[in-house]
Amino acid sequence: MQGLKPQNLHEWETAVLFWAGDDPNETLAVLKRIGIRCGQVGLRGDFDLSCAPQWKEALQAANFTATAVCAAYLGEDYSDIPTVKRTVGFIPPLTRDVREKRTYRVIDFGAAIGAKSISIHIGFVPSEPGDPDYVAVREIARRVCDYAAIHGQTFALETGQESAPELLAFLRDVNRENLGINFDPANMILYGTGDPIEALDVLGKYVLSVHCKDGDWPPAAQPNALGQEKNLGGGAVGIERFLDKLAKIGYSGPLTIEREGVDSAQWLKDVESSIQLIAQLKQRAAQN
Ligand code: MG
Repeated sequence: MQGLKPQNLHEWETAVLFWAGDDPNETLAVLKRIGIRCGQVGLRGDFDLSCAPQWKEALQAANFTATAVCAAYLGEDYSDIPTVKRTVGFIPPLTRDVREKRTYRVIDFGAAIGAKSISIHIGFVPSEPGDPDYVAVREIARRVCDYAAIHGQTFALETGQESAPELLAFLRDVNRENLGINFDPANMILYGTGDPIEALDVLGKYVLSVHCKDGDWPPAAQPNALGQEKNLGGGAVGIERFLDKLAKIGYSGPLTIEREGVDSAQWLKDVESSIQLIAQLKQRAAQN
């Protein structure tokens, strides 16, 4: 189940993760202008999911492929590691139920716009399988997989908050055919969970999609701090090494650029420079 690659896309098509705005035509026009024709549609917790028909129409008119929908939830906060543990995904017990229900509606939205995958940060999964939070999140993951399977979709866990062996154990424990990962090499660095390229040796066969994102390791003197995200090529990932490794594991799906933590003008500049960097590296890879 490697490499989510819709029929009409080329190998390693460059894609972008973008947040759905109020006007789909406007959002897609910006992406088309910079040469992008597919991407992951990020849906914030307060996004109005009833506008799927408008999105479907706009995507068709722009000839743009939504490769996945990415769900975020109200109340999530990525300020530092303890705050992420407390607020993100299905770990906080108080919001677990409402977020699970929202997830099903996001899957419906994805199905309506033709997206074949849903991707979520499910939160910090405890390493101990007997932990009640571990059990609760595993059961939600199973139900989300089963619901997504009805629409023929995969469920991709966003990587980074667990080490590769812990994530592998969790994937095996959930034990669903349509479960995999959206591999984000920067997250492993930002959370200090391990070398992302080595992690692909462990997790390679579960890779459904990838984020091209960069960042630096957390400062050693601040144990709760996250590392800092950087524009692609400016952090510790080593994007050339990352693409080499993706080729080795046989990944052929889109290379989806992700950039967070900057304003919209800077976002566009950084995404454009990331597109250029990926184009250069793809050209180099083709010559080798
Ligand atoms: Mg990511």
